[in-house]
Formats: sequence, structure tokens, C-alpha cells
Amino acid sequence: MKLISNIRDVILRNQVSQYLLEDELVMNWSILKKCMLMLILGSAIHLLWIIWKWHILVTPDLWQWVNLSLVKSQLWVNLIFFALMIGLIWPCYAWKDHPTIQLALPYLSIGLFIISLCRDGYLVGVMSPATMISYVSLITVGLVLFPRKIVYSMLIPATIFLSVCMYLSYKDAIPYAPIFQPHAYGYQNSFWLFSMIFFIIPIVLTCLVLFETLLSQWRHRERLIQNLSQVDPLTNLFNRRSINTCLERLDRSLAANYALVLLDLDHFKRINDQYGHHKGDEVLILVSNILNQQLRDSDIVGRFGGEEFILVLKNSNLEQAIHAAERCRKAIAQLEVFSEDGHLFQVTASFGIAVSTPELRPQQLLTHADQALYAAKASGRNKVMAYTHQESVAI
Ligand code: GH3
Ligand code: MG
Ligand code: MG
Repeated sequence: MKLISNIRDVILRNQVSQYLLEDELVMNWSILKKCMLMLILGSAIHLLWIIWKWHILVTPDLWQWVNLSLVKSQLWVNLIFFALMIGLIWPCYAWKDHPTIQLALPYLSIGLFIISLCRDGYLVGVMSPATMISYVSLITVGLVLFPRKIVYSMLIPATIFLSVCMYLSYKDAIPYAPIFQPHAYGYQNSFWLFSMIFFIIPIVLTCLVLFETLLSQWRHRERLIQNLSQVDPLTNLFNRRSINTCLERLDRSLAANYALVLLDLDHFKRINDQYGHHKGDEVLILVSNILNQQLRDSDIVGRFGGEEFILVLKNSNLEQAIHAAERCRKAIAQLEVFSEDGHLFQVTASFGIAVSTPELRPQQLLTHADQALYAAKASGRNKVMAYTHQESVAI
């Protein structure tokens, strides 16, 4: 019972959180919400550049390491990109339902990101750690969040551009890392090293947070789907699939002795016909609760089909199984249900029991329990019958 109530708690919590999760999941965000995230990250990167360049401009000691006029002119470019990215967040929010905006803004926001990567990547050196890490981060974050078509249509030209820059710098046709003085880049130079660390750490941390969030959401979703696939949505009992898995597991542990009880509500169709399908559902839930209450923590209760339930009673011999089934039968028979118009009616169930033996497979055991159940129905219903020595005996 504890197992069941735990599972039920999980399911209830999951069912409530399912709707929240669906919206919360970064993967499930609307494309414009993802664009807003990219634009915020993009403007944060430009802010880093602005801070770096402004710090150089107000620190004359650092001027020896950089191409000062380029730093000045590029500061303006970063400011323009920063303003553009911040400015684009508003249309993402305000016109989120507009089809043209939905189509154009993903290209525009990723495009601005890519242009920044190409431009700043070339300025600090195509092969520098900052450019490489930005490039890899952009590919992974882009592919996780956006359709492949958008990401590749932007990344392929960017990759060609960076490769051409690399080739031309190798051929001395253009300078390599023009924002630094030629003697200022390399691992032995502390200014260059600190500049790289300054650019890399925020990118790595952001990616880490983003991927951690995505991974935990994925794991949560996995658990939710797994739980939903094991449980019957109406009664929250185990469904037929998980009961079959459980039986296979019991079959593999050779020492297991267990009893199978199949129970079927009597004349359930009449309840549906007389009081409505909704009342029938309510009866199924009430019976499920009774079965959970009457059995031990180690027993497993499942819904096997429409109004048919299965009990797997672990470490139980025939006598114990009969005892448990009788307890359930009496509790169900004592159930008082009221129809919508206040009419009291009662429910009964018939039970068929089969006890495991080393040579019997679960499917054979199920057939035996079914035969016993059939006999219980045939002999007047509201009865417990057990399959013993190739025949069903009344209890
Ligand atoms: P018996 O005593 O021989 O078992 O008779 P019965 O009427 O219980 O059996 P029958 O197989 O004729 O009818 C079973 C009914 O159970 C028919 C079906 O509509 C109903 N049923 C199956 N699943 C559900 C469900 O999820 N909710 C409700 N309300 N009814 C269901
Ligand atoms: Mg029935
Ligand atoms: Mg039936």
C-alpha cells in the first residue's frame, strides 16, 4: 500500500506539474521566447566587450597591448549591437503572435549573434580560445533551442568566413587578431590571458546553467513519462503493462512464491446502464481504494482491463491468498454507492485465484486464475474460487 500511495503521490504531483512543466521546459518555449533568451545572452556578451574596451581606454598602461584606434571604433560597434539586441527583445514580446515576426526574428536574432561571433572572433583571433568556445557554445545552444534549418543556414556561412579569415591571415593577406598588437597575444602574455578568461568564463557558466536546466527538465520528463506509462489514469493502479513486467520479474526470481488473484466486478454493465458511465467510473475508483486498503504493502494491485483487477500477493500460499481475497470480496460487498438521484446500490465482485509453482509460467498461472474466476461467475458471482489440481474449487 505504501508503494501504491507513493506512486499515487508521484502521479498526482506529476499530473499537476505536467502542465507547468510543459510551459516551463525551455525546449517547449515558443520560438520568440527562445529568441528573447538568445538576445539577452547576446547583449550580455556585447556588454562584456564594452566593459573590456572601456577598461582599456581608461587604463593607459594597457594601450601598449592593443590597437587603440580599433578598440575605440569597435566600442561603438559593440554599443550599436548591444542597443540592437536589447531593442529586438521588445518586438519578440509585443508581436509574439504576428506570423512575419515569428518567421523573421529567429533569423534576425541568431544572425546578429553570428555576425558578432564572426566580427569579434576575427578581431581577437580566429583560433583564440574565446572564439573557439563561443563557436562551439553557439552551435550546441542553437541546435538545442532552434530548428536545425535556421542554425545551419547561419552557421555554414559563419564557418566559411572564419576559415577564409584563418587562411588569409596564414597567407599574411590580412592581420591575425588585429585588436591586439602583434606581440600581445599568446599564452605567455598575461593581458591576453586575462582577456581570454574574462570572455570565456561567462560563456562557459551560462552554457553550464542552460544545459543543467535542460538536463534536469529532461530527466524530470523521463520520470513523468515512465510513471504515466505504468499507471492506469482512472484508478491510479498499475496498468496491465507494469503488471506483466512485475510478473516476469517474479518469474525470473526462482524462489518467489506468489498468488495471482483476478477479480471482475459483477454485472458492471448494469451499473453503467442504470446510473451512467460516470458513476461506473466512480465505482472503479472506489473498488481500487478498497483493494489498496485491504492488502499489504508488498502486494501489488493492478487494473487488468475494463472492470477487471489483478492482485499479485507475494510470499503467499493458497490459504493466505484465499483469506486476502475473501477480505476484499466482503469489503466490496459492503460498499454503499449512491446514484445521482440518491438511490443506494451495491457492488459485488467475483474472484479467481491461482498459486505459483516452480514449473508454471505467469501466463499459465493467469489462465488458471481466469478459469477459477469464470467458475466463480458461473456459480452465482460474489464468490472466491481457487484453481487447484486442474479444477476450480469453491471456497
Ligand atoms: P459479469 O458479471 O459477467 O462480469 O458482467 P459485466 O456486466 O460486469 O461484464 P461485461 O463484460 O458484460 O461488461 C463490462 C462492462 O464494463 C462493459 C463496459 O462498458 C464497462 N467498462 C469497461 N471499462 C470501463 C470504464 O473504464 N469505465 C466504465 N464506466 N465502464 C467500463
Ligand atoms: Mg464484470
Ligand atoms: Mg469483465
